[in-house]
Amino acid sequence: MSTIPAPTALDQEIYSTRIAPFLPPRIIDIHTHVWQSKTDAPRQNRSRLVTWPALVASENPIEDLVETYRRLFPDKEVVPMMFGHLNHRAADFAGGNGYIAELIRRRGFPGLMYARPDWSAEELVVQLRLGRFSGVKVYLSLADPKLAVNEITIFDFLPPHQLAVINELGMIVMLHIPRDGRLRDPVNIEQMIEIERRYPSVQLIIAHVGRAYCDEDMGDALALLGRETRRMWFDFSANTNAVVFAELIRRIGSRRILFGSDLPIVRMRCHRICEHGKYINLVPKGLYGDVSVDSHMREVDGAAAAEITYFLYEEILAFKAAAEATGLTKQDVADVFCHNAERLLNSVKPIGQ
Ligand SMILES: [Zn+2]
Repeated sequence: MSTIPAPTALDQEIYSTRIAPFLPPRIIDIHTHVWQSKTDAPRQNRSRLVTWPALVASENPIEDLVETYRRLFPDKEVVPMMFGHLNHRAADFAGGNGYIAELIRRRGFPGLMYARPDWSAEELVVQLRLGRFSGVKVYLSLADPKLAVNEITIFDFLPPHQLAVINELGMIVMLHIPRDGRLRDPVNIEQMIEIERRYPSVQLIIAHVGRAYCDEDMGDALALLGRETRRMWFDFSANTNAVVFAELIRRIGSRRILFGSDLPIVRMRCHRICEHGKYINLVPKGLYGDVSVDSHMREVDGAAAAEITYFLYEEILAFKAAAEATGLTKQDVADVFCHNAERLLNSVKPIGQ
């Protein structure tokens, strides 16, 4: 547990004066990674992944997640939707998914299974029967290694034959969209709309507001998706952009927005800024080892470092600013942090034991 930073006086002040009064008493966190380091892939050839998350946590067993909630939300009840951290083809899928299956049984929290795109439709069903999973988490780095990272499209790691299965079962897909253009990328937008039209029973969640971390990542994507879609959900995990959140609220509406954290990475102390459309995580000097390996990380010290709180608090404060700018009511906020996810999870029927 030593890697979970204890709240400072500043954190406690921010929480008690600005965050606790804004949040409902019960929270559902729709986006959490829970894993034990023994199921990781060997540390080599991870060129498709950004490297900074590995500096924050090498594993996140359920005990650490629960302890993080206890420290960061001392007066709230938080229920996580859990999934693993199987971002490499060489990872231990049976072990990582098996751990989530066991936690669903033991703790009663909902969870998703990491799906490999090379599984057939039959294999996907066999795997889904191994636990009371509510659906699947998919990830771009599991696509065919022959594809260059910016050629990867959604259907390369969320193939149509698997979408057909998920559609039949009415289950969840947690989707981190690919490509450097992020949310504004036309191929992404086209395929997101196609999934909603062709697979109307899939409960599609677009993670991190489609990775629109800087204003430039949005383009007119949310206006378009607001007009063209009625069902897909958006989580705002690991995103701190209040301008993006306000546009999300205006175009999509508060009934399709889900709170998610992306723990454990957001327990990092971090203040995120954008420079020329690129996000930079400002972190206190020395706290996360050698950050020079990743151009998204930059160290600060002195007064600038002393003002940095948890990334997760920044995310919630940014959503609060957007909620105020768009006039969300207390009830709307409770929908986003709890009731929307409850409605979604209640609609899903797991097929496993
Ligand atoms: Zn994530």
